[in-house]
Amino acid sequence: MKDLKVLITGYEAAPFYKRGGLGDVMGSLPKALVEIGVDAKVAIPYYNDIKNKYHFEKQGEFEVIFGGRTERVSVFFEKSVNVPFYFLENKSYLSLSKAKDKTKRMGQFAFFDLAIVEFIRWLGTHHKWHADIVHCNDWHTALIPLILDKVKLKTSTILTIHNLLYQGIGSLKVLDLLDIKDQETKVLKRGVPASEMNVLGEGIIHATRVSTVSPSYAKEIAKIEHDHNPISPFLIEREHEGLGRHGKIIGILNGIDYDIWNPAKDESIFHKFDVSNWEVGKKDNKDDLLKSLGLEDRPTFCFVGRMAAQKGLDILMKAINRISHLDINVIILGSGDPRIERSVLTVAKKFSWVKAELAYSEDLAHKIYAGSDFIIIPSRYEPCGLIQMIAMRYGTLPIASNTGGLKDSIANGKNGLLFEKGKSIRLKKAIRHALNIQKDIIRYRKMVAAAMRKDFSWDKSAVLYKKLYGEMIGKI
Ligand code: ADP
Repeated sequence: MKDLKVLITGYEAAPFYKRGGLGDVMGSLPKALVEIGVDAKVAIPYYNDIKNKYHFEKQGEFEVIFGGRTERVSVFFEKSVNVPFYFLENKSYLSLSKAKDKTKRMGQFAFFDLAIVEFIRWLGTHHKWHADIVHCNDWHTALIPLILDKVKLKTSTILTIHNLLYQGIGSLKVLDLLDIKDQETKVLKRGVPASEMNVLGEGIIHATRVSTVSPSYAKEIAKIEHDHNPISPFLIEREHEGLGRHGKIIGILNGIDYDIWNPAKDESIFHKFDVSNWEVGKKDNKDDLLKSLGLEDRPTFCFVGRMAAQKGLDILMKAINRISHLDINVIILGSGDPRIERSVLTVAKKFSWVKAELAYSEDLAHKIYAGSDFIIIPSRYEPCGLIQMIAMRYGTLPIASNTGGLKDSIANGKNGLLFEKGKSIRLKKAIRHALNIQKDIIRYRKMVAAAMRKDFSWDKSAVLYKKLYGEMIGKI
């Protein structure tokens, strides 16, 4: 069988630019796909943030017409491990990774999506590489299937939803910029005000297949009563459109990159370790971490993640107030919503055993994963979640809400603890339970070893993606 040619595109990709789990996936899935014989390439915008750190080779340029004006897009290239990465540069639209204004951001990614479609042609002309499939990720790249339809470029598309909360809802002007008529869209006005559109919704309807990042989240978001699901009518419609099996959202659990997340090779941590010597390894890393943060030697719980409502920091803060009599440490690393940041700081001021680092720091994250005993993940919902997988790899047991990908990756009582989502009282109980487990040294050792041994590599999931790609173009 001829190699499948897949162009994977999205907002971010590690190691070049990463702010969350999507960045991890865009960096690690293509690598795993190439290893199993998929001819994968990745394309993301060439943000200033990337240019400040890396200098790539320019391979060419092309033009697109956007908002009636001709814009030039330059193509930069870098081979990262085994994956060809392309960076699309345009000063007006693709320089900023975080355009503040919502309308600007929608325009920016409409532009990027148009550029990707032209880039597909460019790859065909300049590299004789004709994509069989474009793999879009989240709303940022969800207009690609619609644009491909418009320009009559017949390429199959898969849209992976990494978080249904972010849908790209905003002004219809985006369609004028792309010279797309209302009639060419299918659902833009449904579920949103008449003057607005839902970019992710368009993607769901126009893509050949839709997937998400865990089997449980796939089930959760297919429910019409799902919390923030203005697009559930679209999901249901796909099934009613007679698309049958192909209309269903498939859930494929993310993996993590074991070249980056490996305590035996991690250059950021004080003492490298593996499952054979974790007790001494983790103790040294813990001593180092606690010393650097001015904390005493006690059972240590951590939190790492974006400070967004989804992540349930309010639940953690409530639980901390309820457990102030326990002799523990809590280390919090994260940044985001200023209101959540303030509430975390208030609690950290109140209790000397709570340390909050309101920053984005890869280095500190590695140290925290290696040096903590438990990681608390009180998410209200979690499409997949990577932090539990990373923490488990580092022998840090997760205490997590019983939802989405957390449920799919943690075996309650065997390699971590699950508690009822949204309930701080349940979290408090789980924390006490964790402390008891830690005192029961035989059980604790067994659980840590089970967590470290659990296979979260991409091996299995990359094969599922390959199979899905094959099905999409009838190549199996
Ligand atoms: P999400 O995609 O919702 O942000 P995930 O659990 O899927 O959540 O992935 C989060 C990723 O971002 C992990 O690699 C985690 O280590 C990283 N991360 C999140 N916040 C920070 C931070 N403040 N500093 C360093 N890394 C962080």
